Amino acid sequence: MRWSRAFLPVLKESPADAQIVSHKLMLRAGLVRQTAAGIYAWLPLGFRVLKKIEQIVREEQDRSGAQEMLMPTLQSADLWRESGRYEAYGPEMLRIKDRHDREILYGPTNEEMITMLFRDEVKSYRDLPRTLYHIQWKFRDEIRPRFGVMRGREFLMKDAYSFDLDEAGARQSYYTQMLAYLRTFQRLGIQAVPMKAASGPIGGDLSHEFIVLAPTGESEVFYDAAYEEFDWQQPDLRYGDEAGLQGLFDRVNATYAATDETHDEGRWSELAPEKQRTGRGIEVGHIFYFGDKYSAAMDLKVSGRDGTPVTPMMGSYGVGVSRLVGAIIEASHDDAGILWPEAVAPWQVGLVTMRTDDEATVVAAESLYEQLREAGVEVLYDDRDERGGVKLGSMDLIGLPWQLIVGPRGIAAGMVELKHRSTGEREELSLESALARLTP
Ligand code: ATP
Ligand code: MG
Repeated sequence: MRWSRAFLPVLKESPADAQIVSHKLMLRAGLVRQTAAGIYAWLPLGFRVLKKIEQIVREEQDRSGAQEMLMPTLQSADLWRESGRYEAYGPEMLRIKDRHDREILYGPTNEEMITMLFRDEVKSYRDLPRTLYHIQWKFRDEIRPRFGVMRGREFLMKDAYSFDLDEAGARQSYYTQMLAYLRTFQRLGIQAVPMKAASGPIGGDLSHEFIVLAPTGESEVFYDAAYEEFDWQQPDLRYGDEAGLQGLFDRVNATYAATDETHDEGRWSELAPEKQRTGRGIEVGHIFYFGDKYSAAMDLKVSGRDGTPVTPMMGSYGVGVSRLVGAIIEASHDDAGILWPEAVAPWQVGLVTMRTDDEATVVAAESLYEQLREAGVEVLYDDRDERGGVKLGSMDLIGLPWQLIVGPRGIAAGMVELKHRSTGEREELSLESALARLTP
């Protein structure tokens, strides 16, 4: 992409209405613009990041055996009356009437819809277990939308739903999602600690929030330093390995981590003081087992192995895809701007010409741009007619992992500068070696 043709509105000043660093940077670097309270338009740079996060979430869901589908944003009120939640949900639900005066709503979540779809199609124990997911916009009329996309009213969520014949099966589905979440967040370049969450209507130990540590987080957190060395990828653990997944779950539960809502002073005091870590965190995911809450209320039954009807046991598993954009920035920035982890960077390389009035500089930069593109490298080429210092400032702000800087003095000696944004390391390289370093 050539910056001179891009829609990349960067701001010099920090917008006054933004309180936390990620929100400021998302506005300054031109990722989003607010179009109504808690509702955002994703500009090209922000949209590229959002899509990359979504894709990693998708790949890890698919790898875990979940199947993607897509449910609509608008749902009928009658569907929610089946579970009793239409009345119970309260003012966070956006209720709408269509031209025939029929009541509809903008979905804040999809338990009712997936239960209805499953109920209408699935008849036998042979059709279970299944885990289905979609990545779709939600609307919750939050009383205080704030911190930009972190607490929006319209936001993108991955929500998965599992159906099992019994609780033992449902536990396996839960552990499977737990592993998928550990892998997902690790690939996104952040550490999200699974913390025991308030378990809701049915109690038990099957509710965890995944929390990214950041000083501006909304929750206070308490965790064991062991999470600093946790093996998030679990490379030897296979999906379907029941004992292995149980072992992972037991390890997570034995390693203390809780938010202020679930903090247990008794267990905490058993942890050696030098292993106690406290801080704040942002909830980026929540996994949750709720048994037959919706299947019973909505009369979902399948015929069991012996022919008697069985009510499937369910869980739901959310990831805040749009919130993650803010959370990643909270966890990864410096005074000059964003530091994108490579996996979610909008482009890998920012190519900068220091002088657009110097022919040799422009010729070299154009040629690097072509060659990088041909090699399949994602490159943003700042070819604007601006002062070099301004362009470098913008590059630091938008935080691409690599900067390739082309200036008249270097070019006279056949050299360009390669800067690694997060470490600040700079190297003088020939054009050929710079290309070799940046191409896969
Ligand atoms: P919170 O406690 O932050 O209000 P929640 O418990 O209501 O969230 P869930 O219903 O568990 O949220 O939704 C799954 C995920 O969706 C959350 O872990 C979070 O990452 C994301 N999410 C929830 N509400 C919002 C919001 N208003 N804006 C952006 N992301 C959200
Ligand atoms: Mg939650």
